[in-house]
Amino acid sequence: MELTINSDQAMQELGQTIGQLLAPNELILLQGDLGAGKTTFTKGVARALGIKRIVKSPTFTIVREYLEGKMPLFHMDMYRLEDGDISSIDLEDYYQRGGVILMEWPSLIQAELPSQYLEITIQRPDEELLSTKRRVQITAQGAKYQELLAKIKASQPN
Ligand code: ADP
Ligand code: MG
Repeated sequence: MELTINSDQAMQELGQTIGQLLAPNELILLQGDLGAGKTTFTKGVARALGIKRIVKSPTFTIVREYLEGKMPLFHMDMYRLEDGDISSIDLEDYYQRGGVILMEWPSLIQAELPSQYLEITIQRPDEELLSTKRRVQITAQGAKYQELLAKIKASQPN
């Protein structure tokens, strides 16, 4: 599905809506350039889970764990991973800890990704740097995520 989002707040609201539909151990890949709005989206998901701690970009830590909500949120950013460094993170473990996993820059660990996930791609359609318009594409791999995508579609107007 494709959506147009017109503000930072609307992106957080989209994250909040989708966050309410997520189940334990679900993986969401967040694609998009620097400043697209991946972390902004994640803030909305955190709010849906009842997480009050401020969500910051995990760029220097690779994974930030938020454990105080109705289920854990594991916010990952693969941007800083050097080649081979992925072995320092036990991804398999994160996939089974009963939390929601939001991963920024998943393309950098393509070979390590499971075959099933929800993928959200955020693009800036305008040349103008300050434009707050974003195009959001959501696709699903695997039956579980197809079902999730159907719920997301049903949650959106028109
Ligand atoms: P990323 O994690 O993709 O690098 P961030 O979410 O950290 O991006 O930053 C996005 C920046 O763009 C924030 O400063 C945010 O306020 C701003 N912004 C403006 N409009 C939007 C929008 N429609 N959606 C998301 N972020 C937006
Ligand atoms: Mg980010």
